[in-house]
Amino acid sequence: MNSVSIRFYEELNDFLHFSKRKIEYRITFELKRTVKDLIEGEGVPHVEVDLILVNGRSVNFDYHIEDDDRISVYPEFELLDISPIYRLRPEPLRQSRFIVDANLGRLARYLRMTGFDTLFDINLNDGDIIRIADQHKKIILTRDVGILKNGKVSRGYFLRSQQPDRQLMEVIHKFDLKRQIKPFTRCIACNGKILSVKKEDIQDQLPEQIKSDFNEFFRCNQCGRVYWKGSHHQRMLEKISRLFP
Ligand SMILES: [Zn+2]
Repeated sequence: MNSVSIRFYEELNDFLHFSKRKIEYRITFELKRTVKDLIEGEGVPHVEVDLILVNGRSVNFDYHIEDDDRISVYPEFELLDISPIYRLRPEPLRQSRFIVDANLGRLARYLRMTGFDTLFDINLNDGDIIRIADQHKKIILTRDVGILKNGKVSRGYFLRSQQPDRQLMEVIHKFDLKRQIKPFTRCIACNGKILSVKKEDIQDQLPEQIKSDFNEFFRCNQCGRVYWKGSHHQRMLEKISRLFP
């Protein structure tokens, strides 16, 4: 029988049983295991982990743990320069592109509203989501820890909140996107790009009242939906400035 001591830091504690949070505790095990198996066995998806130290040395996910190892597990560092030690995550993506789990439709619309490339399709199952994320370098957003534990997943984030406004705040904060917010650039319905369009080109699609009240129009380059800066637009801007002052 082998035994190690382990401690999880910062927000990784969200995944642990409350009796294990923010303390060093011991795990006993019989078979040879990788540190990744051990960490996920405690409930923490590997995609949330950025650095693992074993007896003070940084190790990879496939490190085989040994008796009496002392393991420290850290999420993404924002304030400390850890470049001299091994970083587990791929290089941060320059452009954040998301794929959102089927039951997070409101979050998907809010991300599009703030201008972020967000794939959302209720017909995609877990396997589809994992495959598309891998092929197209998208970040999976989900409340299903199981998806994030899949070995093919390298970019993902587990949403702590169940409330869409708070979920949007989590994502913007986690991926440091506040300065990249561009309202009114992406179609809320389909994720296409919204481009300026001449009124005469679309006026036969407009309700009379809108035609007389507005002169500036935009159109989605994918689904053709027409947008104008009406009350929805105003509410959207108010929401964004309230959430991200
Ligand atoms: Zn569209």
